[in-house]
Amino acid sequence: MLDGLLDPLSRCLDAESARRLVELRVAPPVQERIDALAERANEGLLTDDERAEYEALRRADGRCEYCLPRQEHSELTHHVEHIVAKQHGGPDDVNNLALACHRCNLCKRPNLTGIDTLTGGVVPLFHPRRDQWKDHFVLQDSRIEGTTAAGRVTVHVLAMNDTRRVELRAELLLSSEPL
Ligand SMILES: [Zn+2]
Repeated sequence: MLDGLLDPLSRCLDAESARRLVELRVAPPVQERIDALAERANEGLLTDDERAEYEALRRADGRCEYCLPRQEHSELTHHVEHIVAKQHGGPDDVNNLALACHRCNLCKRPNLTGIDTLTGGVVPLFHPRRDQWKDHFVLQDSRIEGTTAAGRVTVHVLAMNDTRRVELRAELLLSSEPL
């Protein structure tokens, strides 16, 4: 299975991404993690970081906040990621957290911006806490197209229309599964 995942991610996959991919393979799926955190919450044992993670997981309702597929439609575990990476000073606060599928997570890494091919300008990536998805993206057949500069650079940096991702989206649309 890993080979099938590596091909479409080759543009994003360096040594650090490969390490994270292995981590994603061993992580429990979203619902299991929510259940585990709920148990700790009931026992009053949540740390601050776990509380933020718990809130972020429940807020996203199992859906990648960048390219939209739900956990149950992804081969690997969705992860709570820092929108502004910790290495850039991003806090552990829930307002800096988003749920991302393994593909978006591995491609985004600490990136905060991209270069808009239309203007050549450096543009901030889509920010799931500040921005509304439908204001920046549109689904055209099984491709996600950016309708703003932020949308365009995010589609590019996160490789949202790599072949395998478009194929998976098409399969979901054909089976009438909500993305
Ligand atoms: Zn995604």
